[in-house]
Amino acid sequence: MPDAPSTVPRKELSAPQKAMHKLGLVRDIDLALHLPLRYEDETRIVTLHDARDGEVVQVEGVVTKQDIQYRPRRQLLVTLDDGSDTCTLRFFSFYPSHQKTLAVGARVRVRGEVRGGFMGKTMMHPAFHAAGGELPEALTPVYPTSAQLPQAYLRKAVVSGLKRAELSETLPQPVLTSLQDTLRGLRAPLMSLRQALEYLHHPGPDVSLAALEDRSHPAWQRLKAEELLAQQLSQLQAKRERDALRAPALQTAPGGLHEQLLAALPFALTAAQRRVGEEIARDLHRQVPMHRLLQGDVGSGKTVVAALAAAIAIDSGWQCALMAPTEILAEQHFAKLIGWLEPLLEPLGKRVAWLTGSQKKKQRSEMLELIASGEAALVVGTHAVIQDQVQFKNLALAIIDEQHRFGVAQRLALRSKMGGAELGAGEPHLLMMSATPIPRTLAMSYYADLDVSTIDELPPGRTPIVTKVVSDSRRHEVIERIHAQVTEGRQVYWVCPLIEESEAIDLSNATETHAELSQLLPGVLVGLLHSRMPVAEKKAVMSLFSGGHMGVLVSTTVIEVGVDVPNASLMVIEHAERFGLSQLHQLRGRVGRGAAASACVLLYTPNEGGRLGETARERLKAMAETNDGFEIARRDLEIRGPGEFLGARQSGAPLLRFADLATDTHLLEWARAAAAEMLTRFPEAAERHVGRWLGTKAEYLKA
Ligand code: ADP
Ligand code: MG
Repeated sequence: MPDAPSTVPRKELSAPQKAMHKLGLVRDIDLALHLPLRYEDETRIVTLHDARDGEVVQVEGVVTKQDIQYRPRRQLLVTLDDGSDTCTLRFFSFYPSHQKTLAVGARVRVRGEVRGGFMGKTMMHPAFHAAGGELPEALTPVYPTSAQLPQAYLRKAVVSGLKRAELSETLPQPVLTSLQDTLRGLRAPLMSLRQALEYLHHPGPDVSLAALEDRSHPAWQRLKAEELLAQQLSQLQAKRERDALRAPALQTAPGGLHEQLLAALPFALTAAQRRVGEEIARDLHRQVPMHRLLQGDVGSGKTVVAALAAAIAIDSGWQCALMAPTEILAEQHFAKLIGWLEPLLEPLGKRVAWLTGSQKKKQRSEMLELIASGEAALVVGTHAVIQDQVQFKNLALAIIDEQHRFGVAQRLALRSKMGGAELGAGEPHLLMMSATPIPRTLAMSYYADLDVSTIDELPPGRTPIVTKVVSDSRRHEVIERIHAQVTEGRQVYWVCPLIEESEAIDLSNATETHAELSQLLPGVLVGLLHSRMPVAEKKAVMSLFSGGHMGVLVSTTVIEVGVDVPNASLMVIEHAERFGLSQLHQLRGRVGRGAAASACVLLYTPNEGGRLGETARERLKAMAETNDGFEIARRDLEIRGPGEFLGARQSGAPLLRFADLATDTHLLEWARAAAAEMLTRFPEAAERHVGRWLGTKAEYLKA
């Protein structure tokens, strides 16, 4: 059984309790699994005489002097004498309680970093308390915490959470045996979960800190195995649950919309597009909801594959929804899909509807009616598509573009609300699209629950983008190049970085560049696009640019995803060193969409030493070396590590706290096999295990 959640009513929570809730520390097990960031050694007291410069030590002595000084700024100075030497304790912020505990004559225990100097030894802001009490036998854990939650409070909470937590064995004997075999290969004896946790919270003073730090210690191995098992179990469970659900079986009609759309396209599909199209069609034809990720590099032509899938749903008399993360992108889909589909839908008496946040009320309610009546066969929009008032008549297929840009909660909302009246208890088919691929090994092992289709080929006739890494000191050369491109009738993007902490700086950066370019490129229409502009203005700028009337578009990262202007042939990214690798690749993908030779200039600004940070340099190097999105994803994984790669991107919070997919492959393989066995042979144990580890997060992992 999972531990019961705390029953304390919310309004009675104290500030630290609220802070604990915020950190997700609700159940005893949550506390037990909240592991230290590091440890402090309070098991020993050293003499001041022996303390080396820069060492963090614990000393005990008598206060011989207390003073408040006002220059150069207000501070409390306390002199401590332990018989071997003296030390000045210095506090820039202090309370009356400091003065009381550190009164002259008091015997205190103090812990901090010793600095030796001309004026004798000092410690800045050491931790202290009245002397006495036994020395602890174990290292003192230091937990990740927040400002409202004092370390001492959290320590106590963890101790009692750990004591109370139900930690009995969940692994049935055969699974334990296979774990033991796997661990033997890693030279780690099997520990029980309770042993492992007690050890990690309070390791003895003789522990190898290295083994704790690199997580190779047997206690860590047990924990990682448990976590991976929980993750694999929940994935497998989700898959089995979904396999038990019903979805409408969709099929193309001979001579129907699907065929007509294919015939109407101005180009032939690539072999890869045909292949993934067939994979999707096969899924749609089954009575089980599809759960498929369509990944393909930027510009590989995912939109048309989506449109063809939509045509299958519409052919069968059902509705399809297409959701995009930004209004600009939704608008583009809308324009394109209308161009392709509307002439074909018209004879059927059907329409395309669209929904965005900025829509006028009147238009919106018109659209809602079209959707509810079923007259709108295709609904395109932003997050507005999943809002409460939207009622589909019979939605059978939901498509999410640039799915990594949506939060997990939004994906869940989509799935839960999208059952239309005619679906009954069933679910619509779900197609997610992404240009930032999950490396294959990760997709196969980690996303056990997801089917993946990959477009691994670009449409013909594209010339590869040439990428140059250029220091900002050569900015004028870049501007000359822009001039040359525009003279040839080409168009140019100039992207300024998003500085998250300060939208204002971000904006001034873009507006300054806009002014600079306008001045240096007389006779060229230079536009500006940023997220805080009114939507109507954004649309006006975008349509000037896509219509070819605007030579240069300066923007913040709002153009990052999906924007498609084939005549644009030069992309300049300012402060490229501040962007993540996959974002750089996405941005670069805005050019090279037509037949013209295209280039991407990564402008970087070196720091004061004239250098770039190491990871920034690696990112820019990777960009210059390859255009291949899969290779980029692989390097990204290498530079950032999989925890960050998966976690931050997919949900905003890392899904794996302990295990590391790059290094814990043996444990992952074990967990995969163990999950299948456990779910089939020991379903109760499986449920207990998932409940303990994931609690309320289990739902999230299924999204
Ligand atoms: P992405 O996969 O990045 O979403 P898009 O769907 O926006 O790519 O397609 C990029 C461009 O390539 C669009 O202009 C699209 O019309 C065009 N395109 C798609 N498929 C083909 C094809 N088979 N042949 C030629 N052009 C294509
Ligand atoms: Mg796209």
